[in-house]
Amino acid sequence: MRRILLLALPFAAPTFAANAPGPGPAPAGPGGPSISIEEFDPKSTLRVPEHKPTRAKFPFIDVHTHHRDVTPARLDQLIKDMDSLNMGLMINSPVGGGQGKWVADAAAASKAHSPARFRVMTNMDQSKLEEPDYGARAAAQLETDIKAGAIGLKVWKGFGMTLQDSQGRIKVDDPRFDPVWAMAGKHKIPVLIHTADPWGLFQPMDKNNERWLELKIQARRNQSAQTNYTWEQLIDEQHRLFARHPQTTFIAAHLGWLGHDLGKLGALLDRLPNVHVEIGAITSELGRAPRAAHRFFVKYQDRVLFGKDAYNVAEYHVYFRLLETDDEYFDPIRKYHGIWKLYGLALPDDVLKKLYYKNALKLFPGLPSAGFPQ
Ligand SMILES: [Zn+2]
Repeated sequence: MRRILLLALPFAAPTFAANAPGPGPAPAGPGGPSISIEEFDPKSTLRVPEHKPTRAKFPFIDVHTHHRDVTPARLDQLIKDMDSLNMGLMINSPVGGGQGKWVADAAAASKAHSPARFRVMTNMDQSKLEEPDYGARAAAQLETDIKAGAIGLKVWKGFGMTLQDSQGRIKVDDPRFDPVWAMAGKHKIPVLIHTADPWGLFQPMDKNNERWLELKIQARRNQSAQTNYTWEQLIDEQHRLFARHPQTTFIAAHLGWLGHDLGKLGALLDRLPNVHVEIGAITSELGRAPRAAHRFFVKYQDRVLFGKDAYNVAEYHVYFRLLETDDEYFDPIRKYHGIWKLYGLALPDDVLKKLYYKNALKLFPGLPSAGFPQ
């Protein structure tokens, strides 16, 4: 009815007073009913050039991925995926408890199947943490795993958060693990370490929290509600660990959760030459600051590696688009990582090559370099 009235009286300004609240059903609010953040999904009207690479511009090495199943059938499937993505090599790590038998079996299975395409990392033995010989025992296990074929040590995020002994939470820089870090340094295998989670997950779930939607959907990730330590404590502990072991190479997973503060991350890399980073699960952080991120990748081109973590073939495509193109305002992988769109970084070829494979070839021992351009 209202539309007809407006059409009938196009010049009659007072007609708009019909929008004012009046008798009848209560209006839902100015302009109509509210919708939730979960529902809000506007379709962009922006028309700009789009590129959606499904294959990386150069062959790449994924240094952060988890595949417990290394049966020949599974490896066949992974090779198909890798060929479609231009993934030359996959460095597979167990999430937890992979030391000993798993890593020996996985190294042998990978080598038997496709020695040029797969490598494995191991985990740290975290049993009997309070026995006096713990450090020596865990370091010896690492050495055994290295001899069985492990080329890296993966430390799961439970380290520093959920790992406990009779005294409570064990800190990331607890000295009992020093023999393990020293053993990694002795054999020159990198330690890929995930500490903490995004900052917002440690903050109150309120209207100012950028991770509000993630906290809503993934309630178990609400660290502020279930922990008595802070994000800052965990990150400081991690950085102290890095500083205490200058002979050990560390790769901080997920940009060390400093994707929102590349200045602070750059300062860390300036201070500690044994530290590198990997870019899994932080595409939304990079894609909202394409100019700062571009400067970061150029300046620290020798320190950043490609890692994805959660395995999903189609999601790799978004990484390629983010890193390689100058596309604007495109959809993120997960809306709950940030309610905003992404912009491509358009990294130059020489930077891309380092990120995709050159840095990994340098850092990990014994990787086959055939097939990776000079
Ligand atoms: Zn992981």
